[in-house]
Amino acid sequence: MNRTATALVDTHCPYCSLQCGMRLGAAASGPSPVEIVERPDFPVNRGALCGKGHSAAAVLAPGVRLTAPLVRDTKDGPLREADWDEALDRAASAMARTGARHGRNAVGVFGGGGLTNEKAYLLGKFARVALRTANIDYNGRFCMSSAAAAHRNAFGLDRGLPFPLADVARTGCLVLVGSNLADTMPPAVRHIRELRDNGGTLVVVDPRRTRTADLADLHLAPAPGTDLALALGLLHLVVAGGHVDEDFVASRTTGWEAARTAATAHWPERVEAITGVPVADMRRAVELFTAAGSGMVLTARGPEQQSKGVDTVGAWINLCLATGRAGRPFSGYGCLTGQGNGQGGREHGQKADQLPGYRSITDPAARAHVAEVWGVDPADLPGPGVSAYELLDSLGTEGGVRTLLLMGSNPVVSAPNARHVTSRIAALDTLIVCDVVLSETAALADVVLPSAQWAEETGTMTNLEGRVILRRAAVPPAGRARTDLRILRGLAGRLGHEKGFPADPEEVFTELRAASAGGQADYSGIDYARIEAEDGVFWPCPAGVGGGGAQGPAGVGGAVHPGTPRLFLDRFATPDGRARFADVSHRPAGEEPDAEYPLYLTTGRVLAQYQSGAQTRRTPELNRAAPGSFVELHPRLAARLGVAEGERLTLTSRRGRATAPARITAAIRPDTVFMPFHWPGEGRANSLTHDALDPQSRMPEFKVCAVRAEKAPPA
Ligand code: SF4
Repeated sequence: MNRTATALVDTHCPYCSLQCGMRLGAAASGPSPVEIVERPDFPVNRGALCGKGHSAAAVLAPGVRLTAPLVRDTKDGPLREADWDEALDRAASAMARTGARHGRNAVGVFGGGGLTNEKAYLLGKFARVALRTANIDYNGRFCMSSAAAAHRNAFGLDRGLPFPLADVARTGCLVLVGSNLADTMPPAVRHIRELRDNGGTLVVVDPRRTRTADLADLHLAPAPGTDLALALGLLHLVVAGGHVDEDFVASRTTGWEAARTAATAHWPERVEAITGVPVADMRRAVELFTAAGSGMVLTARGPEQQSKGVDTVGAWINLCLATGRAGRPFSGYGCLTGQGNGQGGREHGQKADQLPGYRSITDPAARAHVAEVWGVDPADLPGPGVSAYELLDSLGTEGGVRTLLLMGSNPVVSAPNARHVTSRIAALDTLIVCDVVLSETAALADVVLPSAQWAEETGTMTNLEGRVILRRAAVPPAGRARTDLRILRGLAGRLGHEKGFPADPEEVFTELRAASAGGQADYSGIDYARIEAEDGVFWPCPAGVGGGGAQGPAGVGGAVHPGTPRLFLDRFATPDGRARFADVSHRPAGEEPDAEYPLYLTTGRVLAQYQSGAQTRRTPELNRAAPGSFVELHPRLAARLGVAEGERLTLTSRRGRATAPARITAAIRPDTVFMPFHWPGEGRANSLTHDALDPQSRMPEFKVCAVRAEKAPPA
């Protein structure tokens, strides 16, 4: 089939949650079938792309990506090419066999935050209808689950940003907590530059002086895992300085007394002792945040990927609520979601505890609604399963998952305590992986099903603003690759479900709209034509009153809902319409430095790589820019260890070791080392990370653990 794009196609980047707009045209030369052209009309990035977006076409080239199914004849044998019937037969019969021998919940499904809404929806339906297993979760649990839980606790509804990203430019003071967006989503920096041009100020909270911190009026560098204490210390100063917006607190919130009591117990001097942030800097932060009439706090993985992530985010939300900086124009709290569809991926049913429309799987009314759309008895729908890490931890164990279908995720590199997770994966009876490349996890599979990727398939994504956007296919899938929807239809058919699993994305989206109707994330008024005409629609967007209903064209026969760019301006989504303060206090991380492991380790990302690096490590331009792992450490620590720039350093935690070249910089605290997590092998940061989980979100503690460092011999 001809793989040359014949006309310009408007679409979106395959990587992060900004979902930058781009245009695809025919490649003039080179192995990729398309060429990426800037598209200035999409409001989030206005034409700008980072290096990852610019080079995304490289992964479409044959030779880089998978083009044929692979199977393994014996556990220790090599993968070999197979035809689709053989691969799908093997996958489906392994699922059926495991279910029959060990029970339905012994078959597990692990999804990804990069899947389109249609795939996330159909994967959830496949798990609950075709497999009838409770055990489905996804890697977005490792990304945004703490912010999602805190958002719901406070506001009754979780949407990453409750306002368009461009609103950032019009706030008085922006506080960025644990976000290095200058590296992770560079086009967003233009909104911050506009904020500065408009007279606004920027405060950055991060243990490292990142490129984002370099843009700030004030940089606070707390020790890893202490930003909850810092937020409480700032709230203490807000109270002491008379900056509480008493009218807002009285009219639009509940729970202030407990929050105020907790904050007043966190004296600034005590907080300085916990965090290392000087009291004078805390005072300056409060001055900046309260000086203007509006303010925002945006968190990212720093405060969220902790075993107290929900409480930490809750403490930052308290700061917004106490100062009246929520539910008002150009003010509020938001989460900078990481993965491309981290937002939509959690709305449509691939999370262990949720059904489509952001409905609770334990809510009888929600179960009845979704069961009706799916044409099944509500009693046949499984209940909640275990969270992502707990699912991985159960693999191959008695009573755990024995056969796993994994779609669009690479936990061998990206999961915490990855050595342990890899050994659990090896203990599975059968691993089935759908992916676009032979990732480190796919390389361990018994069956590998080659998926079509972003420019080869059509589907919707929901970016960090809750804006539902459309990616249009520009070229057919390479080789024998198939869309994940087609793969799910093939598996479901073999498991006795010939109907209910369409491969056409628009047909799936129409069903998704019906399943979401009346839920919190209501998409029923959104359709493909409307997304294209409006360049994205913000949910909630119910179908038009008296219109064609969720199955018909959006809004036909009634008023067309405009979508909801800004949430909470009149009321919050709680039963009484009031936001809820969190009652939280500081507590230590799951693992603190001690005599044996005296340093903090924190992990994160670099500009030229994305997540587990499965795609970006296969992109020559990005690999040249960021060829391998490294350990960032302070010059004083380097001197103590006797290590020079570029020399190899081994970090050891209670879970494993990792070795990488030293990168010496005064931009990091002397008690902390940093490793990016994009690489496998001896430089794998997640060999070290801690699998302590947040009690509510079940988020692992990627951002804090204790390690020791030693100079390593040359490679
Ligand atoms: Fe793609 Fe994110 Fe870069 Fe935009 S910022 S081009 S969405 S990786």
